[in-house]
Amino acid sequence: MGFAEGLEHVVRENEPLAPYTRLRIGGPAEFFAEPTSVEELAELVRRARSEDLPIRLLGGGTNLLVRDEGVPGVVISLAAPAFCHLETTADGLRSGGGTKLTHLIATAVREGFAGPEQLVGIPGTVGGALHANSGTHGGDIGQWCRSATVLTRGGEVVRREADDLSFSYRQSSLNELVILSADFVFEREPSETLTRRMQKLWIVKQSRQPSVGERSAYVFRDPVGVTATSLIEQVGLKGTKVGAVELCERDPNFVVANDRATSSDVLRLIDLVRSRVEDGTGIELTQNLQVW
Ligand SMILES: Cc1cc2nc3c(=O)[nH]c(=O)nc-3n(C[C@H](O)[C@H](O)[C@H](O)COP(=O)(O)OP(=O)(O)OC[C@H]3O[C@@H](n4cnc5c(N)ncnc54)[C@H](O)[C@@H]3O)c2cc1C
Repeated sequence: MGFAEGLEHVVRENEPLAPYTRLRIGGPAEFFAEPTSVEELAELVRRARSEDLPIRLLGGGTNLLVRDEGVPGVVISLAAPAFCHLETTADGLRSGGGTKLTHLIATAVREGFAGPEQLVGIPGTVGGALHANSGTHGGDIGQWCRSATVLTRGGEVVRREADDLSFSYRQSSLNELVILSADFVFEREPSETLTRRMQKLWIVKQSRQPSVGERSAYVFRDPVGVTATSLIEQVGLKGTKVGAVELCERDPNFVVANDRATSSDVLRLIDLVRSRVEDGTGIELTQNLQVW
């Protein structure tokens, strides 16, 4: 039986991945699957395992660089409605892994749940944010997560409770193949207060990151006690360009891709920044951007 047999309605072969990423760069996936249910997802994982095909999970594609040659195996997207739900609970929200983070933030603010307004301006999905414990200087998403349901690489659905979860700076113990859904608990604050706080934070964030339409990616984690941005500025790299990719004027810890940009332009620029920062400051930067 071929990998896609009987699942042709959700699997495409040789699908270009560039349109699914914020950088809009990179080659195709050997197989690209958009399952419509957990059962279909589990079946895809089971088949990929039995055929020894690598499996990758795609969220919003905002923290991904896909290589120009593309990726072997299966890329799974959680864009179907079954994975993009969001419900209000007594003390918080229950979200699908594929739900847009902006949807969770807006709903929390409207319902008077405090905390997520600090994440305003972070693109991508709830699953992607939990995978990396994404956040800002105001707070990271993991602190509000009380449980999560995941699909393991073995194809098993498992619920992980709070005492089994740990989050630290851009790191999370939620490292299974798929974060299917998560429960969040928040303190309460008046919706009007949260709206005002979110609007202020959004104005600041907008002035410090590439604009919404730009093809961009956030590159390095902040080392302890200093920002990656300040180190890149310190060694005079602001505005540096390689091929059709440049460091963002507003914040050089973002790369911005222009027409005809390639994945290898991005990789060469990242290498240049890493080595110049290390030579100039002695600090080795850790990459946040995932490369496929
Ligand atoms: C303009 C801009 C601003 C940004 N600002 C911030 C910021 O302030 N703070 C910050 O932390 N980051 C920031 N980022 C980085 C990025 O947006 C976050 O890391 C985001 O949480 C990634 O989510 P995603 O859904 O796009 O993940 P993707 O890019 O699709 O995937 C990233 C990784 O997460 C995994 N993943 C995605 N979904 C799931 C899932 N459901 N289950 C298991 N694994 C999954 C993928 O396999 C991959 O390894 C910014 C990026 C941009 C472009």
